[in-house]
Amino acid sequence: KIRTRIAPSPTGFLHLGTARTALYSWAYARHHGGEFVLRIEDTDVARSTQDSVDQILQSMHWLGLDYDEGPVYQMQRLERYQAVIEQMLAAGSAYRCYTTPAELDALREQQKARGEKTGYDGRWRPEPGKTLPPVPEGVQPVIRFKNPRDGEVRWDDLVKGEIVIANKEFDDLIIQRADGVPTYNFAVVVDDWDMAITHVFRGDEHINNTPWQINIYQALGAPLPLFGHLPVILGDDGLKLSKRRGAVAVSNYEDGGYLPEAMLNYLARLGWSHGDDELFSREQLVSWFDGSHLNKSPAQWDAAKLTWVNAHYMKQADDARLAGLVAAQLARRGQAASAERLAPMCALFKDRCATTLELADWLAMYFAPVAPSAEDVAQHVTDAVKPALAALAARLQTCEWDKAAINQAIKDTIGEHTLKMPQLAIPVRVLVCGRAQTPSVDAVLSLFAREEVVARLATA
Ligand code: GLU
Repeated sequence: KIRTRIAPSPTGFLHLGTARTALYSWAYARHHGGEFVLRIEDTDVARSTQDSVDQILQSMHWLGLDYDEGPVYQMQRLERYQAVIEQMLAAGSAYRCYTTPAELDALREQQKARGEKTGYDGRWRPEPGKTLPPVPEGVQPVIRFKNPRDGEVRWDDLVKGEIVIANKEFDDLIIQRADGVPTYNFAVVVDDWDMAITHVFRGDEHINNTPWQINIYQALGAPLPLFGHLPVILGDDGLKLSKRRGAVAVSNYEDGGYLPEAMLNYLARLGWSHGDDELFSREQLVSWFDGSHLNKSPAQWDAAKLTWVNAHYMKQADDARLAGLVAAQLARRGQAASAERLAPMCALFKDRCATTLELADWLAMYFAPVAPSAEDVAQHVTDAVKPALAALAARLQTCEWDKAAINQAIKDTIGEHTLKMPQLAIPVRVLVCGRAQTPSVDAVLSLFAREEVVARLATA
C-alpha cells in the first residue's frame, strides 16, 4: 500500500515549499488509493512551538490536505527511539562518543589549519584491534552512527534520477544528543520505517542527508522507501523564496484573499505539469498525479499568475461562500456586514476582483461612508450637473427600489436635462461609490438602502 507523509518542523508557519511537498505527497497517495500521514518533527525543542503546530494544521486544513494518520509528534516517541538506539549499540552500528564540544572545536580548527575537510574524526569509533580512550568522568556521551567508510550510496530518485554519493563524504553522524533527544536523520528513519512510508517526497536541501538515512535503514535491516527530492521554489527575483522578500507562508495568502482551490491549483502546477493544462480541479489533480512530470529544475514563483488563477476561481465561486469570506475581511477592518446582504453584491462584483480582499475593498462602500477624491468631484460633479443630481435624488425617493425602476429614474432625468448617460452616471458613482467607475450604475445603486443613496447624492 502506498503511504506518503509530510513532516514539518513546527518552528514557524507552513512555508509554500512545504505546502507544495505536502500537496504532492497527498496527491500521490490519493491517486494510488494510498494513505497520507502528518508527522510533526518537534525534536528541536528550543524552536518548536504549539503556535506553529496550530498554524501548520490550520493551513493544511485550509488547503484541504486531509491526512489519514496524525499528527504524530516525535517528542512522544522518545521511548521508541531509545529502544532502537540500544538495539544499534548492541549490534555495533552505533557507539557512544564522549568528545566534548570544546574538543570538537579544537579538532575543527586543526582540520582547517591543515586545509582538510572538517568533520568528526572517529576517535570513539570502535574498530577491531583499536584501543579507545578512557571514558572521561562526568561527560554525558552522544550516540553516533557508524557510517560505512567505503563504498557509495546510490538511489534512483523519483525526481532527479540516479544519485550516487561516496561514503567517504560522510562522517559518523550524531543520532542521539547528550540529552537523549534523537537527531533528525535518525528519527526520520525510525519514523518512516515504523509508519511504513513507501514514498518520501521532500525538498532537495535534504539530498545530502539521504545517504546517511539509507545507511541507517540498512543497519536496521529496514526496507528502503523511494525518495523524491523536489527542487526549490525561487522568488520573482530568481533567488530562493524567503520571508525577507515576500509572502512565503500559506496563511499570508489565506489572509490576502486567495481561495484555497486557486492556491492548490497554482502550487500543483509549480514544479509539475500535465500537458498544457493550467487550470484543473482537485479531482483532476488526483486523477493525473502519478509522480511523473515533476520538474528537475527550480520553479519560479509568479505572483501575477497566481492572481490570474485566483481570479478564475473567484468567477466560479458560489456567492454565499464569497459573502462569508468578505464578511470576515470587513470584520477585520471593524466593519460589520451580514453575509446575507453581501451575497448579491458578490455576484455583481466578483468578476472584476482577483481576490476576496479586492472584493472587500469594493464592497466596503456599502457599509461605510466613502471619500471621493477632490479631482473626481471637481471633474465630474460640476455645477452644470447639480440640478440633474437633485432631480434624480427626488425621483429615487419615491420610485420602486429595484434595478429597473432606478434605471427608469436615471433615464427620465437625463431626458429631462438633455444629458448623455455618462454625464449623469459618473457623478452619481463618484458621490455614492467614491469612484468614477463601477459596474452598471442601476445594479450598484439597487444594493444600497434608498436613504443612503439619497443622502450621498445630497452631499453635492
Ligand atoms: N522536518 C524536515 C523538514 O521540515 C522533514 C524533512 C523530510 O521530509 O524528511 O525539512
